[in-house]
Amino acid sequence: MLPLRVGIDLGGTKIEGVALAADGRELQRRRVATPTGDYEATLAAIAALVAALESAAGTRAAVGIGIPGTISPASGLIKNANSVCLIGHALDKDLERLLGRPVRLANDADCFALSEASDGAGAGARSVFGTILGTGVGGGLVYEGRLIGGPNAIAGEWGHNPLPWPRIWPHGDERPGPKCYCGRMGCIETFLSGPGLARDHAGASGQTATPEEIVAAAMAGDVAARASLDRYVDRLARALATVINIFDPEVVVLGGGMSKIAQLYDEVPRRWGKWVFSDRVDTKLRPPVHGDSSGVRGAAWLWPAAS
Ligand SMILES: [Zn+2]
Repeated sequence: MLPLRVGIDLGGTKIEGVALAADGRELQRRRVATPTGDYEATLAAIAALVAALESAAGTRAAVGIGIPGTISPASGLIKNANSVCLIGHALDKDLERLLGRPVRLANDADCFALSEASDGAGAGARSVFGTILGTGVGGGLVYEGRLIGGPNAIAGEWGHNPLPWPRIWPHGDERPGPKCYCGRMGCIETFLSGPGLARDHAGASGQTATPEEIVAAAMAGDVAARASLDRYVDRLARALATVINIFDPEVVVLGGGMSKIAQLYDEVPRRWGKWVFSDRVDTKLRPPVHGDSSGVRGAAWLWPAAS
């Protein structure tokens, strides 16, 4: 095992790289703009970033990459990526050729979960579910320090399951629910993403507001905003209960913009017991430690620390 680990977070606008020492200490961080729509230039930019981090550290590194998509186990090619120029390419194989070493690759929600499980909010826990509640809803499962993977490369992707135990509210029925870009209706993502909260609030109150504005208004005592936040808490509690029933994690870590809503960490565990199949629930719900750095740090953690 190499003593240095480099994590690369490949985003739509920037590529960020971090170098971690064997003990997880952050040695250096760099970022460059993502070459727009140019696959070959993207490969070259990643290779240059790795070279710069290695030369600063004076040693060769094990390299992990976080991407906004997944490598299809069947084809070996990238799928589900919002950076369209990546789709259909064998990014890991191309980088391995360019860098002359094996490269590990995972999607951004998996990197988030792994980072928080390794030395973040889930450090020391045996089982961690990490979920990003942002413009979309994704998740990853970590057991004994390793990401759980499967034949479809979708472990932990709960965002496109239906919202469970649907309710009827004064302003409307949760069924069949909003139409999702995936083609189905009523997906968890359509309720628990930031845009999902904004849409629900608009539907119930007739007011257009961002998630941040809704939370601020709720704190200030606005009745409609408080009701919207209350529905959000209720839905998150129900949705997480299904994850707890299947995976029984010690810790659930929230990430993404919605993880900044402080009330979630008290209110959701107060309610999820109603839906979890157990007389008591000892799972902890925690905010992230590394926040926006989780993608790049998790990519580095795709390689175990040298021992
Ligand atoms: Zn969906």
